[in-house]
Amino acid sequence: GLSQDTTARVRAFNEVSARWNLAFTHLSTEDAVLREFLATGGSVHKRQTLRDVVGSVNADLEWLEHHGGRIEAEHVAMLRVEYDGYTKVMEFVLSSPEKSERLTVYGDLALMEFGSLRAQIGANVERKQREFVQYLVGVDQDNLRLRWGAVAVVAVDLLLCIASMVVLVTYQRRAEREASSSRHQALHDALTGLANRQLLADRIEIAIREADHTDRLVGLLLIDLDRFKIVNDTLGHHYGDVLLCQVAERLIGSSRKTDTVARLGGDEFAVLLPDMDSVEDLPQIAEELRRAIQQPVELNGMLVDFGASVGASIFPRDSFDGEELLRHADVAMYVAKRGGFGVNVYDPRSDVHDPMALSILSELRHSINHGHLVLYYQPKVAVADRSLLGVEALVRWQHPSRGLLAPDAFLAIAERGEIIEELTDEVLRIAISQAGAWAGLGLRLPVSVNVTARSLLDPTFSTRLAQLLEQHGVSPDMLTIELPESAISADPALAAKALQEIRTLGVRASIDDFGTGFSSMTFLRDAAVDELKIDRGFVTTMRTDERNHVLVKTMILMARTMAVGVIAEGVEDELTLETLSGLGCQAVQGYHICEPMPAEALSRWLDRCAPGMVVL
Ligand code: C2E
Ligand code: CA
Ligand code: CA
Repeated sequence: GLSQDTTARVRAFNEVSARWNLAFTHLSTEDAVLREFLATGGSVHKRQTLRDVVGSVNADLEWLEHHGGRIEAEHVAMLRVEYDGYTKVMEFVLSSPEKSERLTVYGDLALMEFGSLRAQIGANVERKQREFVQYLVGVDQDNLRLRWGAVAVVAVDLLLCIASMVVLVTYQRRAEREASSSRHQALHDALTGLANRQLLADRIEIAIREADHTDRLVGLLLIDLDRFKIVNDTLGHHYGDVLLCQVAERLIGSSRKTDTVARLGGDEFAVLLPDMDSVEDLPQIAEELRRAIQQPVELNGMLVDFGASVGASIFPRDSFDGEELLRHADVAMYVAKRGGFGVNVYDPRSDVHDPMALSILSELRHSINHGHLVLYYQPKVAVADRSLLGVEALVRWQHPSRGLLAPDAFLAIAERGEIIEELTDEVLRIAISQAGAWAGLGLRLPVSVNVTARSLLDPTFSTRLAQLLEQHGVSPDMLTIELPESAISADPALAAKALQEIRTLGVRASIDDFGTGFSSMTFLRDAAVDELKIDRGFVTTMRTDERNHVLVKTMILMARTMAVGVIAEGVEDELTLETLSGLGCQAVQGYHICEPMPAEALSRWLDRCAPGMVVL
């Protein structure tokens, strides 16, 4: 009688409880897989894994609806709407392109909805457990009046029930651990294990919210290693990584438990000081950290010296919110770097002094790392038959809010702010991989890239160049480096040596803006360049300005005498082209032929204006 009834009830409780537990586990798994998927930027091979788990809670909800009785059905109905919404968002995530804005937006939305769903399902699990315990208490008292045998049956059932619950709970814990480990991955830097940019941003928000109620201060330090690139390039990535891990350890070692140490990417680190007593402490803390990480590091048996620049900002003294706190620390860091100060605390005056330059600089650096630089290509054609000789790569900055920016708007700032090497590297990378892509299509399209004196004179330049060419399988003679003549006059001996190095690789060298600098005849004779590029300032006006006509004529003659190639840039009309042809100029470039344009547009231009022009 009663004991059988009890057994059946216990079983029913057990099954319903198990289903809610399962729903909880399924949901946690969906979330874990989603986070992993988002951490890869939505990679294709993780997509199927996510597709497989989306909607996994539906089966549990259906079971509960049909077998759980009226009360469970009511709880399910309340959940259903929300879970359907979650599933819909997951489908949007699945249909978003890799690394797209859309993916981030829907990903965030799904993560948010998960929180509330998890709480609701969790509440049901708890409710069921509570009801179960209450029931058991009642059963116990009834059982006192039962025969011992019946008690034993109930005890066995109970044991079974408890055992299966333990299994479930373990399973659920594991799912949660897995979920939290992929959460860990999404919020931490893979190399050093430090917090990443997102986690730092979260922590900043929390710190600021807390500081708002008290009179505590929130400090932020941004740390950028000096000369890291050189270590990385000369010793290789492995030792670069070792160095970064050492720096991470030192940062952790010299900060407090409550601080958040983060790596923001590359050689950039941050330390969040969530509760400081006084503004006066900041420079000292920054200086101590800097000294700690600056100790030489032993790499591959060598003691390597490197420096660090630290920028600091503080809430609420000079920044109103987290975003501003970060931006101001960034500005302070640039000031520190540029001035060689080591440590610099944000000073609104330096921002006011040169606000555009500083904010452009910090934006530009992030843009370089996030692929916002694009190249336009301008054809260079032979005067004789107008066949395509190659293209010049001209950098543009696809600015997130200000649109496409021309080099004039940011090159000088990049040069002053010491990020011209990074910019040159990125331009070279894009240009060389584009040349490789064209070669893959059967297009033999040599590319010219502009470099500044600073990039060329960097002792690791030719090594990096060789690496890039090899990486993309591009033959060195497909690349021409254009160096402005002014760069040569600055230090002719050094320039000659650097040019010699790249020519040894088989890369061609061109002197850009020729006629505006003061390179000597002996330099041109000895430096052995492949091409002189007559500055457009002479060319655009040579039809109307007799003196410029004479100069252009002389430069062409000079180039021919020294058996160096010659190209005129800035050809804007047919008459100029004909004049140049008469003067024996071999090659031209200019709006009259074609304006600079993106790679896709260039291939359309080739089809339209120059079919069959390319040497295959
Ligand atoms: P540049 O090397 O003398 O490049 C030629 C510039 O003249 C380009 O301007 C091009 O758009 C423009 N141009 C082309 N045809 C004509 C024409 O018929 N008439 C006139 N008036 N102009 C013409 P852009 O792209 O604005 O580049 C300006 C300068 O910025 C370049 O001058 C170069 O010195 C620098 N630059 C561009 N890209 C890079 C780069 O990737 N790295 C470095 N270091 N410098 C670059
Ligand atoms: Ca050029
Ligand atoms: Ca030029």
